[in-house]
Amino acid sequence: MINLEVPKKAGALVNQAYQAASQVLRPISRKYDRAEHAYPTELDMFAAVLDGLNSSGEGGAGAAGVRREDTGGAKSGNRNGGNLSTVLGTIEMCWGDVGLLLSMPRQGLGNAAIASVANPEQLERFAKIWAAMAITEPDCGSDSAAITASARLDGDEYVLNGEKIFVTAGQRADAVVVWASLDRSKGRAAIKSFVVEKGTPGFEVVRLEHKLGIRASDTAVLRFEECRVPKENLLGSPEVDTKKGFAGVMQTFDNTRPLVAAMAIGVARAALEETARVLAEAGVTVDYDKPANNQHAAAAAYLQLEADYEAAYLLTLESAWMADNRKPNSLQASMAKAKAGRSVVDITLRCVELTGTLGYTEESLLEKWSRDAKILDIFEGTQQIQQLIVARRLLGKTSAELR
Ligand SMILES: Cc1cc2nc3c(=O)[nH]c(=O)nc-3n(C[C@H](O)[C@H](O)[C@H](O)COP(=O)(O)OP(=O)(O)OC[C@H]3O[C@@H](n4cnc5c(N)ncnc54)[C@H](O)[C@@H]3O)c2cc1C
Repeated sequence: MINLEVPKKAGALVNQAYQAASQVLRPISRKYDRAEHAYPTELDMFAAVLDGLNSSGEGGAGAAGVRREDTGGAKSGNRNGGNLSTVLGTIEMCWGDVGLLLSMPRQGLGNAAIASVANPEQLERFAKIWAAMAITEPDCGSDSAAITASARLDGDEYVLNGEKIFVTAGQRADAVVVWASLDRSKGRAAIKSFVVEKGTPGFEVVRLEHKLGIRASDTAVLRFEECRVPKENLLGSPEVDTKKGFAGVMQTFDNTRPLVAAMAIGVARAALEETARVLAEAGVTVDYDKPANNQHAAAAAYLQLEADYEAAYLLTLESAWMADNRKPNSLQASMAKAKAGRSVVDITLRCVELTGTLGYTEESLLEKWSRDAKILDIFEGTQQIQQLIVARRLLGKTSAELR
């Protein structure tokens, strides 16, 4: 059975992440929202702390992995492991600032991919790198099977060609996990992921995007031209198995979607807490013992937002807990991402509304959080795509049958 209390052993990590979020991230949140593309040097000191948390096996604030194979010697019964801890740490850090968390060294979405599908040799070789994730292309977003970036084997190296857009941490990370096709005629089964390290000839950062939110995080356009990587940099199996589809690369999403949901929960909680404070100052307090319709309209609205927040939080914990317990969690990961992504957008905008003019000005971080929220309903699969996946899973339909 799932136990919905935060496990005691995660307490220290949650506390540490909260301290870091409140003492370091919050105070510089506005500074890096304004100074888009400036590197937040304050974050470097965190890297060591987070590395320590990750290597303790308790997860950290960005990169754990979902592994399908059992590691052997695992205890039977329920386990609260790295995925749950990572989700809990991520919530705290994003309560501090989601853009800054996305800029945290060695906590990239590519790290989660490596943790999920790398072999033991690769896990060791890439243990210390900061890896971004490059899937999206100019003509390929939601439909990741439409990838045109190519990889061909030439001797002991793969040669990569193609363009990737909207790559989070694409400039700052040490490496990028690039999705490319070994053979476009074989469809999605031929899509594989490759670790490409910075400085590899043929790998170029073309430009950075200016954005609505998460401005502290760099978002890059990358180009690969006859870019050669050792064949050992392919993650997972090099075999093109058309029966299996692209289950290998897709497995990463089972890990990253709960993480993005956790980011949304952190931002939503920040907005709810600030709104409660502002409302209390205005003489409106929420009474949990009274029906919503007997309270101030703002308190009733707040209760509704909290209910959405709780639902998103519990779905996210469930999806991470399932990953820790080696249970297939694709459905729950998509449900969590869909619920949390939509809720954070609704909650932050409604909080701006509830706090009146204060919420709309730069005097408060509420306006910033409402801008930061939208991406959490877009990347790692949009709201619509999550709903499509949930529908396919519940109805037992394939992606060809329900699109
Ligand atoms: C700030 C930012 C950071 C990002 N970081 C990364 C990153 O690190 N790595 C990376 O690879 N990508 C990244 N992305 C890209 C992101 O994952 C894509 O934007 C997203 O997957 C959607 O793709 P698209 O923008 O091409 O939209 P499209 O796929 O063109 O979709 C447009 C709209 O149509 C809807 N839609 C599409 N197909 C369907 C369907 N079948 N049914 C119903 N509705 C549908 C979508 O939900 C969306 O609302 C980032 C994007 C942004 C903005």
